[in-house]
Amino acid sequence: MRRLAPMLALLLAACVSPRLVAVSAEDWQPDAPDMQAMAREFTDVSRKVSNAARTECNRRTTAVNCDFVVLVDLDPRAPANAFQTLDDKGRPVIIFTQSMIRSTLNADEVAFVMGHEAAHHVLNHIARQAQNAKDGARSFGDRARALGEDAAAIEAAQELGAEVGVQSYAREFELEADQLGTIITYRSGYNPLIGAKYFARIPDPGDQFFATHPPNAQRVQMVLQTAAGLGVTQ
Ligand SMILES: [Zn+2]
Repeated sequence: MRRLAPMLALLLAACVSPRLVAVSAEDWQPDAPDMQAMAREFTDVSRKVSNAARTECNRRTTAVNCDFVVLVDLDPRAPANAFQTLDDKGRPVIIFTQSMIRSTLNADEVAFVMGHEAAHHVLNHIARQAQNAKDGARSFGDRARALGEDAAAIEAAQELGAEVGVQSYAREFELEADQLGTIITYRSGYNPLIGAKYFARIPDPGDQFFATHPPNAQRVQMVLQTAAGLGVTQ
């Protein structure tokens, strides 16, 4: 089993535990017999979704690295999670924890979550969120300065502004990723309507003001609408 710890420790140091140890989907060979069939399915989904995501990415972007790599976090205690990041060469990386893989019911759900994460990259969400944080920090900082606040208060205002900047677009970005994720799932050969049933089992953030994810009903609506546009109604 090839371990990618040093590379990942480097690329993820800023946002995730530097001790993350992960392998590529093709190299993931769990020892537990009940995980082996799941691992084969995961590898298969990874290959199909990466290919479809690359095609969509090349079609919709210019000068963007569309060469997706899917990794499995080998920490058995890591909570159910999937996320997208970039390595030091700007290559898009999608990471699934094993609990996340175990929490899916079928290949369509795996494909849907993976398609959603790939969509975040195609839509340039990491850079756009960084810009939103910067804009929010600047505008709150300027306001504090104009009010004659001291340096510490200006800094506190900038931190709050960065947070507000990120939060104000977080839900919109999730819905955008659900929309393109539906298309990528479909083009990978999976059913986004079956895949999106995953939402029914995760906690609904509801309508809280500061929720980073939209209410599940809104996400399901986006998937239904996008799938219908592709001719998928069941
Ligand atoms: Zn997302």
